[in-house]
Formats: sequence, C-alpha cells, structure tokens
Amino acid sequence: MTVVTANLGFPRIGKHRELKFALEAYWSGKSDAKTLLDVAQKLRAENWALQKKAGIDIIPSNDFSLYDHVLDTAVMVGAVPEIYGWKGGPVGLDTYFAMARGAEGEGHGDCGHAHHHGLAQGVPALEMTKWFDTNYHYMVPEVVEDQAFGLTSAKPLEHFIEAKALGIHTRPVLLGPVTFLKLAKARGSAFKPLDLLPRLLPVYVELLRQLEEAGADWVQVDEPIAVLDLTEGERHSFTTSYGELARAVPGLNIMLASYFGAPADNLSTLAVLPVAGLHVDLVRAPEQFSDVLAAVPADKILSLGVIDGRNIWRADLAAILERLEPVVATRKNLQIAPSCSLLHVPIDLELETALDAELKTWLAFAAQKLAELATLGTALVEGRDVVAETIAAASQAVAARAVSPKVKDVAVQARLAGVDEAMQQRQSAFTERRSRQAQSLALPLFPTTTIGSFPQTPDVRKARSAHAKGALSDLQYDTFIEKETEAAIRWQEEIGLDVLVHGEFERNDMVQYFGEQLAGFAFTQHAWVQSYGSRYVRPPIIFGDVSRPQPMTVRWWAYAQSLTEKPVKGMLTGPVTILNWSFVRDDQPRSETCRQIALAIRNEVNDLEKAGAAMIQIDEAALREGLPLRQKDWASYLDWAVESFRLCASGVGDDTQVHTHMCYSEFNDIIGAIAAMDADVISIETSRSKMELLDAFRNYDYPNEIGPGVYDIHSPRVPEIGEMTELLSLARDRLSDRQLWVNPDCGLKTRKWDEVRPALVNMVAAARQLRAAA
Ligand code: GLN
Ligand code: ZN
Repeated sequence: MTVVTANLGFPRIGKHRELKFALEAYWSGKSDAKTLLDVAQKLRAENWALQKKAGIDIIPSNDFSLYDHVLDTAVMVGAVPEIYGWKGGPVGLDTYFAMARGAEGEGHGDCGHAHHHGLAQGVPALEMTKWFDTNYHYMVPEVVEDQAFGLTSAKPLEHFIEAKALGIHTRPVLLGPVTFLKLAKARGSAFKPLDLLPRLLPVYVELLRQLEEAGADWVQVDEPIAVLDLTEGERHSFTTSYGELARAVPGLNIMLASYFGAPADNLSTLAVLPVAGLHVDLVRAPEQFSDVLAAVPADKILSLGVIDGRNIWRADLAAILERLEPVVATRKNLQIAPSCSLLHVPIDLELETALDAELKTWLAFAAQKLAELATLGTALVEGRDVVAETIAAASQAVAARAVSPKVKDVAVQARLAGVDEAMQQRQSAFTERRSRQAQSLALPLFPTTTIGSFPQTPDVRKARSAHAKGALSDLQYDTFIEKETEAAIRWQEEIGLDVLVHGEFERNDMVQYFGEQLAGFAFTQHAWVQSYGSRYVRPPIIFGDVSRPQPMTVRWWAYAQSLTEKPVKGMLTGPVTILNWSFVRDDQPRSETCRQIALAIRNEVNDLEKAGAAMIQIDEAALREGLPLRQKDWASYLDWAVESFRLCASGVGDDTQVHTHMCYSEFNDIIGAIAAMDADVISIETSRSKMELLDAFRNYDYPNEIGPGVYDIHSPRVPEIGEMTELLSLARDRLSDRQLWVNPDCGLKTRKWDEVRPALVNMVAAARQLRAAA
C-alpha cells in the first residue's frame, strides 16, 4: 500500500505570535537583523519538529516567510521595482520591508534607519490584496514590460538545507510561475505580465537545479490560479511552463498544487502536464473526485486534500475513510494532505484554556489537523483497527456536535422559516422614502458625515485592556468611554458636520464587538491567523444558531444622541461582513448562517429605531470580497448576500434612513447587487481612484444617495480644501447634486486626532464652498 501523508504549508507566526513581536522590535529599531532572523529560524525548526512528531511523511520547507510568500517570490526572481533603489545582488532586509510596508525618507517613522541603507526618499509599499477568497493578503508584484528576471535569493535552498541539517528531508514549496505572473501587475505600460513567462522560466529552472543538487527529490509548486476562470492563453501557459521545467530539470519531481476549488475546465490541461504529481482540494470541491480520478493518469501521484485547511472543525475521519478506501484499493501513488496550506488556520487548539469544553472537542487547528492526517494515513496503510479509538472519538465528536443543544436553537429556526418577501422589503420605494426623509431630516445639500470610528488612541486601548484585565471596573470603563464619546460629539458639532457618529470607542473590532454579544459565537485566546505581514486576526467561531439576546449598541447610540440636536447615526456591522470575517459552520450552507445573523442584526436595527435613531448605518465592508472565485457562482452568492442585507435593514419605517458603507471595491462587478440592497445612502472608498469608481454608479443610473470618499484615510496626509472640492466636482460630473454626500473614504480609527481634525475641518469647508456655488 502506498499512501503517504503530506503537508502543504504550516503557519509561520508562532504559537505565541513570536514572529510579530520579532518583526515589530526590528522595525522599531529595538532589535537587530540577527535577532529577527534567529527568531525566524527557531520558528522554522519548531514547525518542522512539530510536523515530524505528528507523523507527517512529507514536510514542506520554504513555506515560511518573514512577511509574505508572494513578496518572497517577487524578491527571489528580481522583480523589485526601481523606486526601491535595489542595485542587484541579494535583496536586503530593508529593501524587502520597504516593498512590504513602504519606507519614510530621512529616518522618520517606524523604519527609523531607512536612510542608512540607501533609501533616502520615502517610498510607498507595494499594493496589497486578498489571496484568492481567503482573508490573507499578499503584496502585489509589479513588473515592467522589459522586466529582467534573475535568481536573487537562495531562500528555498537555504531552508531546504537548514531542515536537512535538522534531519528532516523536506519538499520545498514554490509559488508557481503562472500564478506569480497572473497575480502581478503591469507597471509603466499596458501589457500582460504573463507574456513575460519565457523570461521568468529560466529563473525557476536555475532554482530547481540548485534544489536538486542540494538533494531535493520533490518540490511542491503552488498554482492556485488553476481553479479560476482562465483564458485559453492562460491555460496554455501551464503547458509551456511545465513542459519547459520538465525538460530542463527532468530529475526533480514536481507536485503541482491546486487548491481553493476545482480546476474543472482546467483539469484536462493540468492532468497531462509532464509533472510527477497533482494536488486537488477535495474539501472545497469534493464533487471533482471522480473526474480527477478519471482524468489523471495512473502513473502520476495524486495528492488528495481531505483535511480542511481553511476552517477549524474536527474532521469526520470515518467518513473520509469511506471515500478513500475504495480508491486506495484500486490505485497506487496516493498522497493525502490538507486541502491547502494550513496558513489559514490557527496553530494549536491546546492553547485554548478558556474555551467551552464541549465546543473544544469539535475543533481542530493546524497541529490537530496534522494528527488527523496521520491517523488517516495509518488507517489506510495498516487498517482502521490500529487507530480504531481515534477514529471512534472523532465520530463521536461529530455526532455530538450534530445534536448538541448548543448548536440548535429552535426559536431561531422557526423564525428563519417564517421569513417572507415582505420582511425583505422597505415599506415604500426609494423615491417615496427620499421625500419623507428630506422632510424629516432637513439636511443641507452635500451633507457631511464620517464613516463611524474616530481614532483609537493609546488611551482608549489602554482603558480597554485595563478593563479586560479587571483593573478598570465596568463603571470606570463606561465612564471613560462616555467621556471620549462626549468629546467627539462636541467636537463634531463645533466643526459643523451635519450627521454625527458616536465614534465607536467602545469597540475592539467591527466584527468581534458584535460576535461577543451574539449567541452562537465563540472567541479564542490564542487562535491567531495571519491577515498580512505582522497583522494577525482572531476570527470569531460561529458554531451554533445565531441570535441576539439583548441590544448591543443602543446604549452608546442613545448616550451620544442625548448630547446633541444633530442626528447621530446608529452604527452596525452587516451580516455578510460578520460572516466573511468569521470561521463559519460547515454543517449548514453559509447562506443560512448569514440569514440568521441578518435576523439578529434586524433586531438591533429595529431597537435603534425604537430608541429614536433617524439614521442607521449597516457596514458591509466585506461584501465584495466574499465573491466566489468562479464567475458562475457569483449570482447565487450575491442573491443571498443582498437578501441578508435587506432582511436586516427592512424592518424600519420610511422615515428612517438606512446607510451602508463599503470599502475599496471593484463596483462594476456588483453594481446591480448594490442597487438591490436599496440602502438610502451608501458611502464608498473612492478618493484614490479619482472618482472613477463612480462610473459604475453613473452607468447604472444608480438612483439612491452616495457619499464617495474625498479623503484618503490610509494616509496620514491632511488633504487641502482644494483637493476635496476637485474630487467633488469629479463626482458631480457623474452624479446629480441631490445624490451626493461628503465623507472620508472609511473609518478613522487608525488615524491620529492631529491628522483627523484638520482633514475634517477642510472637508466641511469643501462642502460649504460647493453649497455656496450650487
Ligand atoms: N463603521 C466602521 C468604521 O468606521 C466601518 C469600517 C469599515 O467598513 N472597514 O470603522
Ligand atoms: Zn471602509
């Protein structure tokens, strides 16, 4: 029997976030490069040892990264844009981090020693974007039309050798050339980065030869774009690339890894590539199993991704074995693996000492997933009997979860079953609502507002952590938050904003704050996953039917409104965003969980209205980013996403103005859905696009009101009045005056008051200039 277990990648951050702290110490100048690199090396050694101890046969190397594996690849092939001042040779740490985070000139900011290393001018970071449909973000490589590539980093080789010295023969992981170029952005002129493939391949050839010389027999080459909609030409790039690599380095075996879905229409291309193995994701796309078995020739090694690398649930080992055993009986050359790299799950469940004991038995993090994989491997090779107890325990946990009263709430299910069309429909159409709201709210033309949060100053953070530790009583904490809120209200009145916000000082995070108050959600202490670089998040775990035991925000809204005659917006996070930023149940469709959250938020919306809120904002920052990878799946996602939003927003009267907010998005793809959400007002991030994002709204004849961001909140720079009137006039070219609101791009929680104050004063002045001239 020839079934071996393989892992595709392990989280880099360390059980106790060691990498984050080491990076931040280095960036702040508190430690040196050697200290940072030592921590990194220690983490790698720990990770390899953990995987070996778990009994995994094939252990990856080069899955580690100081910041991001796509950035590592860019740096490795010499795709370093000119502005970073790289002169060839190995790319130093400071150049690497300048690409990751930007660098200030003259030694300011958090890259304090930049100018000692030749970065005399401030430079911006590369763009960052989401890695497929995960919440991991990668740095977008930039290439120019006459891009020269060259092998400039020995990292894959060094890490292979490093592991070998520890007695572990690894399978190095590389980001594939096709995916790398497909994700890259053309700079300077319009061309397709994929056309640079012939120039890039020699770098891969050189690298593979070096690895082979160092003793590697296999490499894992990740090509996740294989699960996307591809053009004929893009598909052909696979044939070209792997034909060339196989020809040039025939002695090294390639495991081509697809994940996050099925190759589907790309499968026939992948199946016949001259590579030794193919990995497929049978968790996200279980239905492809028979197609894959039929398409992939029997002499190729098939790696079956059967343990969920994207979610935190304990696997039903017996059910997986049911599927695998018949295949193992008839086919040689099988590997079993997680569906994708374990980068996307927390490291070790054992660290969770405060989690509900029963819930804990339902979960598996990276370390536990590897143990599951090892059990499966043993069962397949030596028979189930050898690991009967472990399999039975897993079955038991799965069965207990299925019937647990913690999961099921009959009241929620009854309420969901009773949802009808009318509950998703505002009382009147937008035009009718608009005239009623115009009357009751009596706002000026170009009303000014902000997106919700004000600076989370060190004082606010200190108070929150003191409260969490018990050093600050509930009363003391609430008094502190009231003081902050009052100051924010007074200040907003003073500078003349038309619609105020309470400032969100009481919120740790726009999803966590709600999750902590909703039934069906659990929170962890140490279950961090990398969002980008040194930023890690602890997504809530939605394990049961969701309901809202009591009001979550009314108190803070009411307090803020009691201080002013101006309208204060109620401020909520929408159901789709809460869903997309959480670990979700795998025992019911996402759509169903989303509707449950929508009903819970609907209660809050209705309570805010009852308390007197005339405006309620429901943020859907993550609506666009939840779009499925394949276009054919978009419509059904958007259907239930829009329906969920409408469900939570439609319980209010016509006089109540519903706002929503979306961060930077490609709105063309979803403009129909945005219109169908039917929010009275939407604020969006637009300032950096010179209002071009509004074209989608203009072309659609979008009827409702819009606040296109006129102030880039991602930058500490204070925009001048003139810049904002300029942007507003670009907006007026596209939309009618009666539609337009004036607001920043997004919430201001990450900014400092010194930046926010003058910027908002200028923003109000810009709106007034416009009004005077209109
Ligand atoms: N109301 C939130 C805030 O201002 C919205 C943030 C977001 O959508 N990213 O912080
Ligand atoms: Zn935003």
